Amino acid sequence: MEDKQKRGKLFIISGPAGVGKKAIIEGVKKIFDAQRIITTSTRKPRPGESEGDPYYFISKKEFKDKIKKGDFIEWALEMNGNYYGGTKEEVEKVLNSDRIGIWEIEYKGVISAKKTFPEIIAILINAPLDSLEKRIRSRDTDRATEEYMKERMDYNKEWLKNKDIYDYEVMNYDDKQDKALAQVADIIKKEANIDKN
Ligand code: 5GP
Repeated sequence: MEDKQKRGKLFIISGPAGVGKKAIIEGVKKIFDAQRIITTSTRKPRPGESEGDPYYFISKKEFKDKIKKGDFIEWALEMNGNYYGGTKEEVEKVLNSDRIGIWEIEYKGVISAKKTFPEIIAILINAPLDSLEKRIRSRDTDRATEEYMKERMDYNKEWLKNKDIYDYEVMNYDDKQDKALAQVADIIKKEANIDKN
């Protein structure tokens, strides 16, 4: 934090379940050769995921030990009962590089991250509630009971009450994902002073 000139620009990309963050983050990584901050989670890897992609997967006991040691800049207990957190080590690694850094965290994490790094730019990816509901239903087919849907959507509504913690809001409408990515890219170019077409 001492030498801000050397530090890469860090952007939070955050949004409720079903909003399509993953595709936007993949797009941003390609456009800017951006580096994603790999956060740590106690949830089990899903098919196709592996260590470091998208998380460092550890047990709840290991996570709690890391909390005690003060390893995390911020951490949160998610609605699904799992812990998620970003270590100082990972964030410092990205901040000390010349690359654009992308940090994907939920809204409570955004509040803590902004306290530690006020210069960080937080982008909310949002979509109409009915689109979110439709996308979660078609994505989580194995889990999408009415109770699950209600929990998810209640949490999403809670999330959206906290919109004012973000610097930007980008709407990701159905079939307009390219437009959402282009808007996010424009924000990054502007904030990081990048001259790229
Ligand atoms: P998923 O389990 O679907 O990959 O992620 C669940 C949620 O955890 C997402 O909203 C994601 O943004 C959030 N998340 C991932 N890593 C972190 C982290 O390090 N801190 C916080 N606060 N949230 C995280």
